[in-house]
Amino acid sequence: MDEYDQARYAGEDAHEPLLSEKGETTVAVEDTPLPEELTRDSVTLPSPSEPEIAEHYVRLSQMNYGVDTGPYPLGSCTMKYNPRFTEDVAAHPDAAVHPDRSDESVQGTLALLHALQDSLARIGGMDAVTLQPPAGAAGEFAGIAIAKAYHEANGEGQRHEVVVPDSAHGTNFATAAMAGYDVVSLPSGEDGRVDLDALEAAVGEETAALMLTNPNTLGLFERDIEAVADVVHDSGGLLYYDGANLNALLGRARPGDMGFDVMHFNVHKTFATPHGGGGPGAGPVGVTADLADFLPSPQVREGEDGDYERVTPANSIGKVHGQLGNWLVLVKAYAYLLRLGDAGLRDASGKAVLNANYLAEQVPYDVPYGPFHHEFVASAGEQDAADVAKRMLDYAVHPPTTKWPETVEEALMTEPTEAEGLRGLDQLAAAFERAAADDDAALANAPEKTAARRIDQTSAARDLRLSWHALDDDSDA
Ligand SMILES: *Cc1c(COP(=O)(O)O)cnc(C)c1O
Repeated sequence: MDEYDQARYAGEDAHEPLLSEKGETTVAVEDTPLPEELTRDSVTLPSPSEPEIAEHYVRLSQMNYGVDTGPYPLGSCTMKYNPRFTEDVAAHPDAAVHPDRSDESVQGTLALLHALQDSLARIGGMDAVTLQPPAGAAGEFAGIAIAKAYHEANGEGQRHEVVVPDSAHGTNFATAAMAGYDVVSLPSGEDGRVDLDALEAAVGEETAALMLTNPNTLGLFERDIEAVADVVHDSGGLLYYDGANLNALLGRARPGDMGFDVMHFNVHKTFATPHGGGGPGAGPVGVTADLADFLPSPQVREGEDGDYERVTPANSIGKVHGQLGNWLVLVKAYAYLLRLGDAGLRDASGKAVLNANYLAEQVPYDVPYGPFHHEFVASAGEQDAADVAKRMLDYAVHPPTTKWPETVEEALMTEPTEAEGLRGLDQLAAAFERAAADDDAALANAPEKTAARRIDQTSAARDLRLSWHALDDDSDA
C-alpha cells in the first residue's frame, strides 16, 4: 500500500455508512418450526446490492492495517504471513467433525492430532504434548498447573514461588499469580541475560519453577542456559519454557535439550496460523516424561491395535478447554508443518534471524545488546516510543511493539519475521529513518493519514462499546 492509498481512507472521507444506512427493507417472516414466542411477523433488514456489500467490507478492511497490508514487525507478537493453503485444508468438508462423535468414527481427526502432538514434541525436545489450551497464556497456565500438580504429588506442595525475569512477557507474571504462586522478579544482568548470581539468590526450597524464554525478549540467546537449568534443578524446581516465539530455534535447538521440563508453543506465532482479535489460537503444552501423567484430559493416544483413542492421563489436571482444543487452528498448524518439513522449518528460523539482524543494522536508533536472534530492541532515546509508532503508521508500515521490555528505555521491539522480503525490510528501515528525523510536533500529531487519528487507548480498551446501538443511545442523550 502506498501513502496515497492510505490517505484515501483518512479524515472525513473515511466515514463508511452502516449497511442499513444505505437502505432497508421489511420482509415477512415465513412459517418456521420455532416456538411462536420466539418469532416475529416481519424483520427489517439492510437492502444493499451485492456489489455494495462487497465494497462496504473492502472499504472497512482498507481503513485498518492488517497482516496482508504490508510489513508488520510487532516484536514478540510475531505477526507473519498466513498461508492460504492452510485455510483450504481447514475448510475441507471432512474437517467439520462433531467433537462428540465416537473415537471409531473420527480416526482421521485423531490421527492428525496425534501426529501434531508428535511433531511438536519432536520440535520442542519434549516427551508428550497436549493440544488443548486455546492461547499462549492459557498454555502457560496449564503448564504451571502441571508443575504444581507434580510438586504436590511429590509431597512438595510447600513450594510457593515462581521466579520470572524482569524482561519476561507480562503473561508469565499473570500466569504464576493466577496459579496461586508468589511471583519473584529476577533482575536481568548487565548483558541483558539471566545473571547467575541473582538466580542463585532467588531460587531455593520455596521455588516451584523458573519461567524463561530463550532467546529472551531482547532477542538474546541465554548462553548459560545449561548452568541456569542446573541451578533450578538443584533447588528442586522445574524449568518452564515460554515458547510463544520459537522462530529463532526451529530445526536448530530444542528447549528439551537445554534442560526445560515444560513449555508452551504459540501456533499462531510460530506456525503461521492466523493471529488476530485475541483468538482463536492454540497454545499446546509439551512436557518431559516425568510430567506426562499430569497433562490435561483428553489426550490422544495410539492404542496397541493401531487405533487412536482419547484417554485421560493418570494424574490429569483436568480440562483446560472444551474437547480437544481449537481443532481447525490445529489443522492449519499441522498443514503448515507438513508443507515446510524439517528443512523448511530450519530455513524459516534462519531467515527470521537474518531479517532481524539486517533491519537492526539499518535503524537510525541506538540498538543496545546484540547480536540478535529473531527480534531486536532499539531505543527511541529522546523520542517517545509510542509517538514514533504512531508516526510509522503515516509512513504506511505497522509499527513495532513499544515500551517493552522495560529494561530498554523507550523500547522499539522489532520482529520482521522470516516472511518479510528485502523490499519490506527496506520499507521498514525507511519508516524508522523518517520518524527519527521528525520533530516533536509531527510526532505528537501522528498519525495524520490513517482513518482514525490518535485515539484514547485507555478508554478504547476499558470502555468497550461493541454495539452500534450503544453509541446511538448515547448520541440521543
Ligand atoms: C504472545 C506471547 C505470550 C502469550 O500468548 P497469547 O497467545 O497472546 O496468550 C506469552 N509469552 C510470550 C513471550 C509471547 O510473545
